[in-house]
Amino acid sequence: MKYVSTRGQAPNLGFCDSVLAGLASDGGLYLPDEWPRLTSRDIASLANRPYRDVAFEIISRFVDGEISDTALNSIIGGAYSCFRHPSVAPLAELEPGLFALELFHGPTLAFKDIAMQVLARVMDHILAQRGQRATIIGATSGDTGSAAIEAFRGRENTDIFILHPKGRVSPVQRRQMTTVLDENVHNIAVEGSFDDCQNLVKALFLDEAFRDDVHLSGVNSINWGRIVAQIVYYFTAATALGAPHRKVSFTVPTGNFGDVFAGYSAHQMGLPIEKLVIATNSNDILRRTFQTGTYQIDGVVSTQSPSMDIEISSNFERLLFESAQRDAGAVRAMMDSLQQSGGFEIARGTMKNLTRHFSVGSANEAETTQSIADTLAGSQYLADPHSAVGLHVARRQKKISAPMVALATAHPVKFAKAVRSACGIEPDLPDWLSDLHERTERCDVLAIDTRALQEYIRARIRA
Ligand SMILES: *Cc1c(COP(=O)(O)O)cnc(C)c1O
Repeated sequence: MKYVSTRGQAPNLGFCDSVLAGLASDGGLYLPDEWPRLTSRDIASLANRPYRDVAFEIISRFVDGEISDTALNSIIGGAYSCFRHPSVAPLAELEPGLFALELFHGPTLAFKDIAMQVLARVMDHILAQRGQRATIIGATSGDTGSAAIEAFRGRENTDIFILHPKGRVSPVQRRQMTTVLDENVHNIAVEGSFDDCQNLVKALFLDEAFRDDVHLSGVNSINWGRIVAQIVYYFTAATALGAPHRKVSFTVPTGNFGDVFAGYSAHQMGLPIEKLVIATNSNDILRRTFQTGTYQIDGVVSTQSPSMDIEISSNFERLLFESAQRDAGAVRAMMDSLQQSGGFEIARGTMKNLTRHFSVGSANEAETTQSIADTLAGSQYLADPHSAVGLHVARRQKKISAPMVALATAHPVKFAKAVRSACGIEPDLPDWLSDLHERTERCDVLAIDTRALQEYIRARIRA
């Protein structure tokens, strides 16, 4: 299997190279040249199998022999043995026909663990085979940084540096990062904002000499390896609810469009999904796009579901490529226009394909709060604000007959303040994390200074 860029001007790569590259050299995103297809029989045979078996069945079709079956099995086994629920991604029935798919049983209590735990092991494996090393660097406002640190801690061939804005992440989020004391993990509190952190990371990637010197690499949500791992739970959830004999719908709290694109990928592989519902918070650029055919940025507002506070929804480019029948020239034109004027028009035919499988809905701040309260009152279920956005939108889907699965993307304790003010309940840390506030922290404070950051990294990477 070959991977092609959505912008059509980068070399085709195999699975391992596309994972190590992340972004394609022409600025595009990688996609398989052809979707692997599962027959109804294949899908039926996945029902009631352990999560890790289904993960192997799905992921191996994309790896296509580039990693041995034995190695891939042990990568997947290792990734999911650190989850605190035996089924990894369990379903909870909230009301007849409405289910929450709990994706937050990993080490940092949010759905990013599911993909990051696989990606880190895959990268480390490829590097070891090639006798190479990499330096992972990223900026975080909370969730992604801790998931990356947990996934890369103790890996032989990678050192990881995560920047967060000093004093501007919640104590739980900070401690989930700074109490990881492995020698390859480096937390940096930057005296500035999240944007300052992101600009520092960008500056490092733009400095070619430095980038090559330390083998810089990223693990952001456009990495194809992350999407692949997220396809798995669409299969486990749908088969648990009767697929392939019965269609299922999904509602997905959406920011960078990685999670819901994994749902689309499952559908392209043959999973009978009736509708994929994109749920956004007040940052509803995708809803406006679906209504008008025009993608137009107009500023981000802060909400109680911060992981969805995004207006450049990077993985949406993959759906545009698919909906434009893989016309890379059309994608380039749209992305150029986005760069130059903050927006683009989507051609009528492309819009038609795009809306075929998707619906969109939004929850504003008041509706999110109400959704947390209603879910507790009606179903005795405590939802975090991201999951609550999804539940609000899921409940308003009228024309869907299939069972509805709403993805629950974070544990309520990660957003305890919002949950408490919505319903008066203080979510508890799980037992295995209950000493988080007593654990030793390690973190260095740096100014907004590219040179100082480069020196810091050079001094700490292992040879
Ligand atoms: C990242 C994240 C999302 C959004 O997922 P995308 O793949 O970026 O669309 C939703 N909820 C939580 C809790 C997240 O961490």
